[in-house]
Amino acid sequence: MQQIEELKQEINAYEADGADGAEAFRIKYLGTKGIVKNIMGEMKNVPNDQKKAFGLLVNEFKQVAETKYETLKAAAGSDETSASNIDLSLPGTPVTVGSRHPLSLVRNQIVTIFKRLGFAVAEGPEIEDDWHNFGAMNLPEDHPARDMQDTFYINQNPAWLLRTHTSSVQARIMEKQKPPIRVICPGRVYRNETISARAHCFFHQVEGLYVDEHVSFADLKQTLYFFVQEMFGKDVKVRFRPSYFPFTEPSAEMDISCLICGGDGCAVCKHTGWVEILGSGMVHPKVLENFGIDSNKYTGFAFGMGVERITQLKYQVNDLRLYSQNDVRFLKQFTGAV
Ligand SMILES: [Zn+2]
Repeated sequence: MQQIEELKQEINAYEADGADGAEAFRIKYLGTKGIVKNIMGEMKNVPNDQKKAFGLLVNEFKQVAETKYETLKAAAGSDETSASNIDLSLPGTPVTVGSRHPLSLVRNQIVTIFKRLGFAVAEGPEIEDDWHNFGAMNLPEDHPARDMQDTFYINQNPAWLLRTHTSSVQARIMEKQKPPIRVICPGRVYRNETISARAHCFFHQVEGLYVDEHVSFADLKQTLYFFVQEMFGKDVKVRFRPSYFPFTEPSAEMDISCLICGGDGCAVCKHTGWVEILGSGMVHPKVLENFGIDSNKYTGFAFGMGVERITQLKYQVNDLRLYSQNDVRFLKQFTGAV
């Protein structure tokens, strides 16, 4: 106890220069092999009836040492600031502000436009079973159209695959919900394609489905016409070309007048004045019947577009690979886009 008293005085008298001095103090008194620890270790040699008094004394001693250390440290800190030649008027390190990915920007725009027409957003799993991706969509196993949608299969269970379109989400909606159904399905889809400027093994779609009584092809045309005007401006023209999809009948592909040349012909539209942007059609009665929806009472239309395609047209991006390379020089060009 006498020794502790002496050490206390020693601490009070301790003087240190700067941060190094404070650190030396810490190591000497408060370190893992320091004096405070050492004295605490003496507790086992103290007779039982004096343990309490000794404990109190040691705790107080520890506090004295800690307070002294804080004082030394604070003094060292203020010393350092005044002694250093840091130029406090220098601008700070800038915080880099990121921007939305161009595909997210365009997907959000598409979703916003259809929401205004009363479409709800539906999402579903990217790993699907054969039925929801192909079978229910009128693509039985031997259907040649499957060749155009080759995908990736899961080894553990070959009945599982990565969805090739978000039509699988439409299937899940029709499974659970009775008409009227009015949904859009944005999401990532997969194809077994060799990666190039024009093709990738994954891309993004927004598909739409509207099923109710008396839904006609006129509704389909007007809905999509409204969409392109909102997306690309009032001057854009549209045309429908007959096409084939197993899940719609009749089917049509929709072109818009070329945004670059205004229809006169250029490299982007391959000198036709038109660019293709989406596929559409009236839902095949067989697809409706697959989900127990009476095709004599209900009709519907569906459409699907690639988000990459729309983004390409809107921002003149001519290589699909740029979207997934994470090149900041590419991405930061979209900082100002909303
Ligand atoms: Zn053109």
